[in-house]
Amino acid sequence: MRLIRLIANLGYGSQRDVKAMIKDGLVTRADGSVLDDTSKVAHEDIRVDGEPLDPPPGLVLMLNKPEGYTCSTSDPGRVVYELLPPRFMHRNPIVAPVGRLDRDSSGLLLLTDDGPLAHRVTSPKRHVPKTYEVTLARPLTGEEGAVFASGTLMLRSENTPLAPAELMVTGPQTARITITEGRYHQVKRMFAAVGNHVERLHRAAIGGLDLGDLPEGQWRMLTPDEITLVI
Ligand code: URA
Repeated sequence: MRLIRLIANLGYGSQRDVKAMIKDGLVTRADGSVLDDTSKVAHEDIRVDGEPLDPPPGLVLMLNKPEGYTCSTSDPGRVVYELLPPRFMHRNPIVAPVGRLDRDSSGLLLLTDDGPLAHRVTSPKRHVPKTYEVTLARPLTGEEGAVFASGTLMLRSENTPLAPAELMVTGPQTARITITEGRYHQVKRMFAAVGNHVERLHRAAIGGLDLGDLPEGQWRMLTPDEITLVI
């Protein structure tokens, strides 16, 4: 693919913008030599304004989402795209959230431009575990673990029971819960079903991947090995 189209598809600007960037000498090789639209160059060797060109389609990134941000492109409030370089929203295909985390939830959010990969992570048939840390409004009774593990819990206005989920109590009003489905507001509705209320919800892990030491509000690309941990 010609350079202008390649860089424009990665969200850096319109083809006209990229043409201007090339004309201004902002598109170079790693050694600083200037490129033009017809240059034959390896993707990894391209620099835009001195920075490596974003990876080709198939990128996956993790964001440590703070509370207060929605997983949408447009919303009257704050959106997760404000925490990412704007070009991710303009890439073709767009870098989109893998599943949802509610506005008032925090933690691990994956984003990718790879639709089939997103589907593999979220599909209930694949049972990719998602682990959440919850803070509850009322003390746990000690019975929740058995109810969640039973595979018989029915959420209001649904007609199939939830798959078994694992609960680890970490304090009088705190727990870690691992679920393998992704029903609407699932964790909050599970605790509502046992007479409690989730006050804080933080996603700690998806599959074998956790946030590590990624600070809140920050993002980074996943390595190919890390991608295999979530599919
Ligand atoms: N369950 C919820 O209730 N909310 C989330 O954001 C994720 C899982």
